[in-house]
Amino acid sequence: MKVKVKVEAERCQGHARCAMICPEVFDLDEEGFVVLLAEEIDDPVVAGRVRDAVANCPERAIDTV
Ligand code: SF4
Repeated sequence: MKVKVKVEAERCQGHARCAMICPEVFDLDEEGFVVLLAEEIDDPVVAGRVRDAVANCPERAIDTV
């Protein structure tokens, strides 16, 4: 099952946890704020890392649909 990822960019405070946990999907711009690399994830291993990243974002700026 595909997992969709969404970002509420205005909530992001640039902690970089998402990019450390799941670099396949989350990158950081030059100011350290999240950049989404993929909106739909097929790979269950990557999807698991996305869920870990969501759980570890202190600002609740990322989520799955
Ligand atoms: S963990 Fe959350 S607040 Fe930190 S860079 Fe990622 S989306 Fe932004």
